[in-house]
Amino acid sequence: MAITGVMRIGVVALRVLDLEAAIHHYVDILGLRETERRGDRVYLKAWDEHDHHSIVLREADHAGIDYCAFKVREAEDLPRLRARLESSGIAVESVPPANFLGEAVRFVVPTGHTILLFHAMEKVGNGLSLQNPEFEPDDLKGIAASMMEHCLLYGPAVTETERIFCDLLGFSPSERLVLPDGSLKATFLACNTKMHDIAFIEHPEPGKFHHVSFWVGSDEAVMRAANLFGRHGVPIDEGPTQHGIGRARTIYFWDPSGNRNEVFGGSYLYFPDKPTLTWDATQLGKAISYPRRKMNDTFLTVLT
Ligand code: FE
Repeated sequence: MAITGVMRIGVVALRVLDLEAAIHHYVDILGLRETERRGDRVYLKAWDEHDHHSIVLREADHAGIDYCAFKVREAEDLPRLRARLESSGIAVESVPPANFLGEAVRFVVPTGHTILLFHAMEKVGNGLSLQNPEFEPDDLKGIAASMMEHCLLYGPAVTETERIFCDLLGFSPSERLVLPDGSLKATFLACNTKMHDIAFIEHPEPGKFHHVSFWVGSDEAVMRAANLFGRHGVPIDEGPTQHGIGRARTIYFWDPSGNRNEVFGGSYLYFPDKPTLTWDATQLGKAISYPRRKMNDTFLTVLT
């Protein structure tokens, strides 16, 4: 396997207003597994992830994102990428090993989001043997999302942030959305064979959170999620529908704190020689909500 440097998104750490209500949502409805409660934090993973956690929930008086962490392939990627960031004038802090993570580095991108890079996380496995495994565990719950897939963040200076991810960290834009004056409105950044692990949309207020997405795979699984949302009264923002961007099946919905989540399936395999697709901002409806070709009011305005 030749993926080098930043391998994938590893953790999205969210603030929630009520920890118990959030645990019910993420564990009983989405089907994530709770791997630890420590202090004011709860650590969760999707069933098919082997690392200790991919979601951290922290109770706070306002919802949103604390940080987003990416896993690098080799231990030596950390000092190498740190040097690249610092040589471009970005302040990078060391984060000593703690809370199931090995050594990490932390920096803030111009959109106002805190990004961590780490190499090692405690492994807990996916509940299946590594030898002649069964197809899936017996105790899957709810939607049984198998993986935390990507996140979408809003903030200023998306062009500069894209440059950091692409020029310094090795990402490629799989798709971009461009305003009539040629400036960048949104970028979808790939670092592996997913069409994006992170995306940014230009927005005046820094550090805002739009959604974290969970992989369910098939069209049938997306519709099963819709069924469960209806049955359990989970409020839906948009969908089930399909995106023009990423050619994916999707439902946007809300956690009990107002953080937007997504279930995601379909899409395409990305390779770095695939040309970047460009969307005109006038086509935003088609890009986000392909069949209706228009946006609902909340997509661009409701953030945490
Ligand atoms: Fe998404």
